[in-house]
Parts: sequence; structure tokens; C-alpha cells
Amino acid sequence: MDKSGKKYVYYFGQKKVEGTAKMKEVLGGKGANLAEMTSIGLPVPPGFTISTEACAHYSANNGEYPQGLREEVLAQLKMLEEEMGAKLGDSENPLLVSVRSGAAQSMPGMMDTVLNLGMNPDSAKALAKKTGNERFAWDSYRRFMQMFGDVVMGVPHADFEHALQEVKDERNREADTDLDVDDLIEVIKRYREIYKKVVHEDFPSDPIDQLFKSINAVFDSWNNERAIKYRQMNDIRGLLGTAVNVQAMVFGNMGNSSGTGVAFTRDPSTGDNHFYGEYLMNAQGEDVVAGIRTPLPISTLHEAKPHLYDQLMEIRTTLEQHYHDMQDIEFTIQEGKLFILQTRNGKRTIFSWLRTQVEMVEEGLITKEEAVSRIPAGEFNKLFAPVLDSDYIAKKGLKAVSRGLNASPGGACGQIYFTADKAEEMAALGKDVILARIETSPEDIGGMAVAKGIITTRGGMTSHAAVVARGMGCPCVSGAGDININYKKGTFAVKDVELKEGDFISIDGFTGEVFAEKIAVKPSEIVQVLNGNMKSEDSLLFQDYEKFMQYVDEIRVMRVRTNADTPTDAHMAVLLGAEGIGLCRTEHMFFGGERIVSVRKMILANNTIEREKALAELLPMQRVDFEEIYTELDGLPVTIRLLDPPLHEFLPNDHTSRHEMALQLGVSVEEIAQKTAQLHEFNPMLGFRGCRLAIVYPEILKMQVRAIIEAALNVQAKGIKVYPEIMIPLVGHYKEFEYTKKDAIETIEEVFAEKGQKVEYKIGTMIEVPRAAITADEIAQSAEFFSFGTNDLTQMGCGFSRDDSASFLGPYVNDIDKGFYDYDPFETIDVDGVGKMVQMAVELGRTAKKDLKLGICGEHGGDPKSIAFFNKVGLDYVSCSPFRVPVARLAAAQATLAAK
Ligand code: ADP
Ligand code: MG
Ligand code: MG
Repeated sequence: MDKSGKKYVYYFGQKKVEGTAKMKEVLGGKGANLAEMTSIGLPVPPGFTISTEACAHYSANNGEYPQGLREEVLAQLKMLEEEMGAKLGDSENPLLVSVRSGAAQSMPGMMDTVLNLGMNPDSAKALAKKTGNERFAWDSYRRFMQMFGDVVMGVPHADFEHALQEVKDERNREADTDLDVDDLIEVIKRYREIYKKVVHEDFPSDPIDQLFKSINAVFDSWNNERAIKYRQMNDIRGLLGTAVNVQAMVFGNMGNSSGTGVAFTRDPSTGDNHFYGEYLMNAQGEDVVAGIRTPLPISTLHEAKPHLYDQLMEIRTTLEQHYHDMQDIEFTIQEGKLFILQTRNGKRTIFSWLRTQVEMVEEGLITKEEAVSRIPAGEFNKLFAPVLDSDYIAKKGLKAVSRGLNASPGGACGQIYFTADKAEEMAALGKDVILARIETSPEDIGGMAVAKGIITTRGGMTSHAAVVARGMGCPCVSGAGDININYKKGTFAVKDVELKEGDFISIDGFTGEVFAEKIAVKPSEIVQVLNGNMKSEDSLLFQDYEKFMQYVDEIRVMRVRTNADTPTDAHMAVLLGAEGIGLCRTEHMFFGGERIVSVRKMILANNTIEREKALAELLPMQRVDFEEIYTELDGLPVTIRLLDPPLHEFLPNDHTSRHEMALQLGVSVEEIAQKTAQLHEFNPMLGFRGCRLAIVYPEILKMQVRAIIEAALNVQAKGIKVYPEIMIPLVGHYKEFEYTKKDAIETIEEVFAEKGQKVEYKIGTMIEVPRAAITADEIAQSAEFFSFGTNDLTQMGCGFSRDDSASFLGPYVNDIDKGFYDYDPFETIDVDGVGKMVQMAVELGRTAKKDLKLGICGEHGGDPKSIAFFNKVGLDYVSCSPFRVPVARLAAAQATLAAK
């Protein structure tokens, strides 16, 4: 404890337990759960955890410890030695420990674990005597030197591997396990030389020296490049640092009744409720994950060591009952005795998330609220990801050339590349890339991130490739052992097939199958059921999805609409749960077939009469558009935005198309060129567009409003309910709104009078010009709804062009040094700036009109973090593209829960 009485080190063991699972911030996830598991009586080797606060102090003070930390560590070590009846570095009864990093969120970017710390020639001899296993003692020493040298002191891993191989070759030893005591002593001698050459010091034999060097290395690793990059990529913010766990060693490498393994309490790939894992006998630590020896599936332990298997199954139940979620555990067996070394909530695919949560609700293990709050909204879209086209495979009678492990679900087809760099290069050229590697390592991250799929020939379900691919939602087949990848020759050979770099393959991450063919990928089961191409009884995924979305909708307050311009889009969006259209853009309707001809006539018109003539041609076409949309929506509301883009967008900009247009319209090319020049603007996005068009050419507005209302009356006459909401874009001044609204109402009254029928409607505006947000109270006097156009509001609010700000946004967004904006403001709303304008407009608007309807229709409507913000400021709905509707529903429900 320092002067202020601050505690930095927390014990876990039989003597006492000072931490709990709730203390992740201070103890890191690993430390907090080691303490918790000890408390509930699970067999955990004792130890202590140095807090993340100590790391924060160390980082902020150039590697200086907080006062008293060293003494506190030594005191806790003493307690551990007493509990174990052994002493670090002792020449009779030596204690060995592991030094393990662990932040509040699991972070593979940080320091690797150091095992067997406390080894020196004396303790090795003592260990040999005590265990009667000389080979084990020297092997443990060798492993320690290698790990300490590599992980703590930065001696190249390859140097050690090289020395080991040399001894093996010289003495004709096949595997590491063939090395005898004499061989190992020789290896240790060479390791010592290597260490001295690189570090310029002797390998430390003082265990206290070893310990503090290792603790410092863990602290330092918090700010290494890999860790920083990992936090940045995974949006991990606001953590203090890493904790350090010092824990008594147990040994999985003491012979054939010892071993080590990892397991999930349910299947991390599919979510299936069965115990799932891998283990290796006579192995230590990272052997399982490193992919050096291929581990055995946990089910085989059932036969080999039934009582251990049963004990593990019991622990599985205990952990799930205690943590109320799927756990990912690490265990070690020392001479037939089981120890648990770690537990955490298991990382899993979105498929596994969905299934585990729905089943746990049904088992009564968790509430619907818990289920909804946990599923990562950012990944939810992957449920709709494509799968390999099984019909095509059946029809062509295609056979898999290999079958590896189904490490991460999803179907992928693309061209194979063998290095991460090449994969990145090819993906940048727009190719669909499958990264094919013998095994992957953290250096491959870039290539993995761009790959459509990943395949490895070595390594299990918990290998680097498998874990990372699942995290990224990238389809992956791992350990396809019969494939031979030759990096030098650039070949991928299996059976009698030999493929070269750039050839096509397809992989099925659901089954592990690999095809040496180009196979189409088709929509996910959910989409197939929604489209009526598959029965819901045949898809467990769909059934789980339906149940889960029911929980979501029970919790959610904010509504979700869609941005859709066509009946087809609207149809899909409604199937995905949209409760109306929040943005129906009319300009897209102007491009098809003959319409563009009439639109161009309208633009070229020299006077109102000519313009009205062209518009009269457009009217029936627009009316049909709206009739179809109302019919499709069948009683759901639709916000229709009047013409918004600058008119030049409708004119051709190359000579050939101008020529065509001239012929079509019977005008001269010069006339078109002249009109185009006339419409030219330096800043079209700030130009003659939005309500400005409707003000200068009221006849455009009148035609559109007429089409909207006539269509509504026609559809209503068929007994279908219609709720049109007419939206005036780009209003900045309340007078602009009132001016256009007056014209709209005049037209509506005209149509009502002509038809002798009425229909309910609303007129409102987009809030997308900062001036509109600031004067929202004035606009709300006459507007019935606001829809925030956050794309334009961001563009004009931050002064970033929507179209080409990418050239400089890099240093602005999520940049480690500058970090002006945490997220791209066009993707996630800039809460403090643009968000503030939204909030202001909401408050001003509602003060002026209590029942003002508020929504948002910018891209942000489909972004979970932005949705949380919109929920907080009290919008009635968000509107997003059809395939983001389910995510938005989930994010809205999560926002409701978070606000509780
Ligand atoms: P990571 O965060 O990379 O999983 P860990 O700290 O969990 O690193 O350590 C990795 C592996 O090292 C563990 O799965 C376990 O097999 C081994 N290990 C760590 N501490 C001990 C220990 N005290 N006794 C035996 N093995 C250990
Ligand atoms: Mg671990
Ligand atoms: Mg806009």
C-alpha cells in the first residue's frame, strides 16, 4: 500500500480472496475471474494480481512504480510461498510461478505469458529430486529460458528454435519429447550463450530479479504498437492498463497423466449446447493454441480419463450457472489432478451468440433483457451473410477436395493468395481474396481483415486463424491437413489437384469443406425464409432469429423505419421489420426509361408553360410509383421527400450522351451544352437544390404533391390505408418552409376538390441545414414533423465534404496522436457537435409543438452507436437501409436497456 493507503496487489488462494468478478476494471478480466473461481471453490492454483492502477501509474511515470508496490508484491509473494509450502528459487522446495497479463477486456495484442518463472540451476535440481522426474525439471527450465528470453527480453524466438533444432539434428532426435536430460542440458547451455549475446548480460538466476523484469515487461506491453493498434481497431477505450497475474504453476508436462486444454461450455461456432474443446497430454501452456501439435477433441477425454471428463462437465455446469453465460476455460491436468487456469465469457460467432442466448432464455438461465443487451449489435448483420450455393454444388455434383475444421461460419469464394501482404494488395484491386496459409500469426492481421475467407492447413479450432476469423466474422476453415501449401513454389496442392496463386477456391465455414472451384454464394437462411424460398421449420437459425427479435421488440421503444425508393426495397424492409418508410427519395424515380427524357425536357424548358408540359408527362409515372409503394406498405406511413438534388445531375456530361439526348429531344447539342454550363455550380451541394428548386419552380413541387395525393386517394379507394408524409428538403429558414407548404396545401386542396375525397397527410421538413436546427422552434410552428438529415447536417456542420473528405479525414479520425474525432463523423454521429445541433433542434421543436414527430433518415440511422444517441435525445424513430433494419431494432432495444 502506498502512503495514501492505496492497495495495488490482490491475493487469491486458500488464505484469502481479495477480488471478485465485478472488479475487472482493477484486476483485469483474468485476475477478477481467478479470484471469483477461487471463491466458489473451483480448483485454481493460488496467486496474486497487481492492479491496472499500478500499470497506469507505471505508464504515466516513465516506468516508476507507485510507492510501496514492490514491498506489497514481496509481501503477497511471501503469503503465496507459505500457502504452497515452497519458496521461489529454493534449492530444496522451489516454487514456480507464471506471470500473466490481463486487461479489463481480453486483448491478444499484449505480452505473452511467462511460465515456470523461478527456475535456475539450483531449483531445477531440486525440482528433479522432488518430482523424481529429471527430464521434466530440465525441460521446464529450458522452456522458461526460451519464454523469458523471447517475451521479456526480446531475444528473437527463432534463435532459440534454431539452437533447439541443432541439438535435435546433432543427436538424431525426432520430436522435442525425444530429448533426454543430457540433450536438454546442452540446449540450456546454448540458450545461455544466445541470451548473453543479445542481452549483454548473463541469464538472471535470481528469481526476484526474474519476477520484476517480467512484471515490467507486462506493464510495458500495454503500450506496445501491437496492443495500441488492437485497441484502436477494436474500439477499446478508457482502460487504465493491464493487470499482472502471478500464479503458482501447475504442470501439464509431467508425463502422460498430465496435460493441458481449452474448452467452451457451448459451441462457439454454432452455439450448440455441447461441451466443446481440445486438449493435449504431456503438454504445457501455449502448446494447444500454437498449432504445433494437433490437439485431440475433448470428447476423447471421456474414454481416456472418464473421471476427469466428469469433473470438467461438473465445472462446466457450475460456471454457466454462476456466470449465466457461455464460458471459455483453460485447464491443466497435473498427474491426474485438474486445475482451472482461466474463465471468461466465450468469444463466439454471431450465429453462436444468437443460439446460446435464445436457448439460455428458454432454459431460464437468463432474462430476455440480458439476452438482448449482450448480443453485439455491430455484428448482427453477419446473420444475413451469404452461404455457398448448395443447389449449385448438388447440381454439378461437386465434391470437396478437402475437409478441415469449420472454424468460422459463412461461405466464401475467391482467389487464393499465400501471404497477408499479397492478399491486401489484391483486395485493394477489388479482387475477392481467400487467404491460404499453413498457419497464421498476428502479423497476418491486415491480410485477414481484407480476406473474404481464410484457410489454414494446420491448427485447431482455437488456433490463431480460427479465433481471429470468428472475431472478424470472416468464414474460415482451419487445419485442412491434407492440403499442401508450398510458399516457395506458390502452390496449393491436394490429392491430384494443384492450384496456383490467383486460382479460385470456395470454402464452407459451416462444414469445413474446401472446393477447388468457383461457387456462387447465396443469401443466408434468414433471407431465404423471409423470401419464401425456404420453410421456417427447416431453419433453426430463422426460428432463433424470430424468437430473439420478439424479445427485441418487446423492449424497444424507438421505432425503426427504412430508407426505400422502390416497392422491392420496401417489401424486403418490411419483412425485416421496418415500420414504415422514413425516407422515400423521388429523384431515383426520375432516371428509369422514358422518365429521364421528360425530366430533361423539363430542365431544358425555357418557360413555365414548356416546363408544365414536361411535368404533365411525368405526373402519371410518379403517381404509379407512389401507388405501388402505398400498396406495398399496406397501412404503414411513408415520408416522401420532394426533389432534392441539383438539376445538373440529370443531364449527361459526356459528348456522346449529349448527342443522343439532342436527337431524342429534337434540340441542338449546343443548347444542351449551354444549359449544362448555365447549371454549373462551384459547390453544387450548397447550390440550387432542395426546397430552392421548389421555390424557383413551384410547378415541380405541385406535380409531385399532386402525384402523392392522387395516388393516395386511388389506393385508399381500394380499401388500403395510406399515410403520406410530404417532406420538404434543405429548409434553412422557416419562411422557406411556409412558402412551399402553402403551395403544397393549395395543390392538395385542389386534388381533394377534384376527387371529392380526402386523405390524412402530414407536411414536414428535413433538418439538415445548421440554420434550421438553430431556428427549429420557428420551423416547428408550421411543420408537423422533422426528419434529421444527418449526412448534410454533418457536411455543413463540420464543414467536411461528403464526397471527398476522405483525402484528409485519416489524421482526423481515430488517429492515435490527434484523435480529433473518435469515429468517422459520417458513420457515427459526432455527438458533441452535430449531435448537439440535433438535440437543440429536438428541444426547440418540441417546445414549439409538443407532438412534433421526430426521426432521422441519414446514414447514422443504421449505426448502433448513433442509434443509442438518438434514443437518448428522444427521437420517435430512426430510418435506415433495409438490411440494417434488424440491427437498428436491436440497437434501439439495447439503448432502452442501457438507459434504465
Ligand atoms: P493468454 O491470455 O494468452 O491466454 P494466459 O495467461 O491465459 O495467456 O496463459 C496461457 C496459458 O499458459 C494458459 O492457458 C495455461 O495453459 C498456461 N498457464 C498460465 N499460467 C499457468 C499456471 N500457473 N500453471 C500452469 N499453466 C499456466
Ligand atoms: Mg488464457
Ligand atoms: Mg440532404
